[in-house]
Amino acid sequence: MIPRTKVSRRSFSFPIYRLVLLAFVLAILYINCSYSWAQNSRTFDDAPPQNNIPPLKQLIDSLPIVYRSPYIEVRSDVVIPNLQELTEKLTEVISIDIRLQQLARFPQACRQIIVALASDQAANHYINHAFGGLAFKNLAFAAHAKGFFGRDDSYNWYVAGHEFEHVLMARLGASGGILPAYLSEGIACCVGIHYVLESQMGSKALQSQALKLAQARASDAVDIFQNYVRPQDLAIFRDQGKGFLAEHLGGLFIQFLANRTCGSPENFFIQWGNFAFELGQTKDLNREFKKHFGISLEKAQQDFTKYINETENNPQARFANTAYAGYPKTKPVKDYDDKTMHDQYSYPPQPRPVER
Ligand SMILES: [Zn+2]
Repeated sequence: MIPRTKVSRRSFSFPIYRLVLLAFVLAILYINCSYSWAQNSRTFDDAPPQNNIPPLKQLIDSLPIVYRSPYIEVRSDVVIPNLQELTEKLTEVISIDIRLQQLARFPQACRQIIVALASDQAANHYINHAFGGLAFKNLAFAAHAKGFFGRDDSYNWYVAGHEFEHVLMARLGASGGILPAYLSEGIACCVGIHYVLESQMGSKALQSQALKLAQARASDAVDIFQNYVRPQDLAIFRDQGKGFLAEHLGGLFIQFLANRTCGSPENFFIQWGNFAFELGQTKDLNREFKKHFGISLEKAQQDFTKYINETENNPQARFANTAYAGYPKTKPVKDYDDKTMHDQYSYPPQPRPVER
């Protein structure tokens, strides 16, 4: 195990820290949000057990603070070799999430976010569970530290963008539970993907998602709209081995919606910011959806199911005008070298091989 830093130990000894910690604990007692999940290459179809929220809070609280700025607070129990680079990247990711949706209009969304990067030992001790990223209410997200040491691992930066989005949505009052899971996960997937695209990072994240989405059937679309709705449905889908498909199919639904209602992702994300803010006020999903996207949620679901049906076994058509255009690659992409990840995706139904 890598030892904690001296800075971290000192920070625990300040009496002011205890006050801050007490305030933190009291504050979250009053916050009613949900959590959600994004997988990494080690644990694809995965979600936290439903009783995992208190241990997750304990995990986050247990980690010493190693960096603080107005935007993020990083906590970790391992020595981070590239802390400055890492914090710059995290700040860049959160900035893009906010800018995309023009959330600077909503001061409640732009408070500091805690990023908890845990050692395997700490994660196993507190939540007894391997994980990629896990958003905690409107405060924080936690992830395995080791995944964030590699600068070019697009999948981990995708996870950061994804989890930041959950925290931002929770701050607008549009957390999971208010948003159905296929929308809550879908927008988080889209925002995470957008960061990977915009920063022109490697394509591992896109490749793994496209491989899975290429296999989706119309019945999968019906399944998420009917059954991937409540926060607890994440764990149910995980246990059924279809959590990864469900969240990214939600993301594809949002891209489909964006193409049809706005014509450009940029306009759509701003529209989404307005939608989320007003949904947080009214909690009236059907009304706000229709108002902001000009189509009823039910009709959008029907149109998407039809499109998935029409593009079965045709990923080229399915992914046209989406973030996945040109995917999945038949040859490994630059940073796509994780054999176990490939193996995870080779179960039936197989997509037709794509000519490149
Ligand atoms: Zn998520």
